[in-house]
Amino acid sequence: MRRIALINQKGGVGKTTTTVNLGAALARAGRRVVVIDLDPQANLSLHLDVQLASGEPSSYAVLLGNSSFAAALRDTATPGLRLLPSNIDLSGAELELANAFGRELILRDAIDAWEKEHREKHGEAPADYVLLDCPPSLGLLSVNGLVAAQEAVISVQTEFFALQGMTKLVDVVSLLRRRLNPRLEVTGFLPCLYDNRTKLAREVIAELRSYFPGKVFTRPIAKNIKLAEAPSYGKTIFEYAPESSGAQDYELVAQEVMAQESRDSELTARYPAKPTEQQPAAKPSKPAPKKKAAPREDTPAAKLAVVELEPKPSAVAPNGPKEDELPELPPDAVIFEGSLGE
Ligand code: ATP
Ligand code: MG
Repeated sequence: MRRIALINQKGGVGKTTTTVNLGAALARAGRRVVVIDLDPQANLSLHLDVQLASGEPSSYAVLLGNSSFAAALRDTATPGLRLLPSNIDLSGAELELANAFGRELILRDAIDAWEKEHREKHGEAPADYVLLDCPPSLGLLSVNGLVAAQEAVISVQTEFFALQGMTKLVDVVSLLRRRLNPRLEVTGFLPCLYDNRTKLAREVIAELRSYFPGKVFTRPIAKNIKLAEAPSYGKTIFEYAPESSGAQDYELVAQEVMAQESRDSELTARYPAKPTEQQPAAKPSKPAPKKKAAPREDTPAAKLAVVELEPKPSAVAPNGPKEDELPELPPDAVIFEGSLGE
C-alpha cells in the first residue's frame, strides 16, 4: 500500500486538485484508492461532494482518537475511490493536540491499525494507494501527513515564486526523515497550473529538472479551466469533463505513478506490469523547449533558484552530473531515492 503525501506549504499550487484527480485516475485504472483530507478548509471533501456536519466522523475525529480510520471513510461517486473527509473542526486540532504525547504519530498509527486489522481479516492491504492532501503550512497536520506517508510529492506552481521556500520544505522533509520517518522519500515534483506559452513557466520546469534530475514528472499539469470548474460541481475531472486536457494530464501522471509500483511488492504482484505501464508517459501535448535545462543566471527564475537553493549545493549541483553520476552524499543531504525516469 503506497502512502503518498501531496505537500507544499505554499497555498493554491494544485495539491488538492492533484489529490482528487490523481486519486480518481488511479481508481479508474483499477486501483483501490483512499484520499485523506488533512486541511481544515476541507477543499478535498467539497471537491468530492462531501460536506460534513460538525461532529461527523472525519480526519479530525481520527486525530483526536474519537473515531477509527475505517469508520470515518466514505465512498465517493468514483468506484474504488474512498475519502477520509475533514471539516472546519480540524482547525482546532493543532492546538488541541499541542501537548499530546506522540502527536506527530497519530495518523500513522491510525493508518497502521486500519491496515493491520484488514490484513488479519482479509489477508491483504485495505487499499493500493493512500493519498494525503496536506494543508498549506508545515504545522502539525502536515507533519502527521508526512509521518504517515512513505512518499512525498511536491506540487509546484510554475510561476515566479515557485522555488521560494523549497529549501525550507526540503529541510523539513529531511528532518522528519531523520527523526520520525526514515522511510520518507520525496518521489516527485509535479508542476501544476502550467502554461507553456510563457517563457517563465518553461524556465521554472527547466530549473526544477536541473536541480532535481529524475524527480520531476514528465507530464506537467497544464492550466485548464475545466479543472478549476470541477470542484464547484463536486466532481472529479473525469466526471465533469472527461475529454478535457486536464483529464488527459492527470491520466498520464497516474501512469507515471503506476510505473513506480515496483516500490511495493504487493502491488507488483497484484497488478503485473502491462507493457504500456512501463513506458514513459506520452510526450507533453506541445513540444518541450529545446534549450538546455541548466539554469541561466540572467533569468528571474534562475536568480530565485540560486538564492533559495544555495544552502544545499552538495545535493544537486545546478549544472551537475546526471542522476546516475551523482556523488555520495552525507546522510542528512540524501532525501531522494528512486527515479521517475524522465
Ligand atoms: P491550498 O494550499 O489552499 O490547499 P492547493 O495547493 O490545494 O491550495 P488547489 O486548491 O488544488 O491548490 O488549486 C488552487 C486553485 O487553482 C483552485 O481553485 C483550483 O480549482 C485551481 N486549479 C488547480 N489546478 C488547476 C489547473 N491545472 N488549471 C486551472 N485551475 C487549477
Ligand atoms: Mg488544498
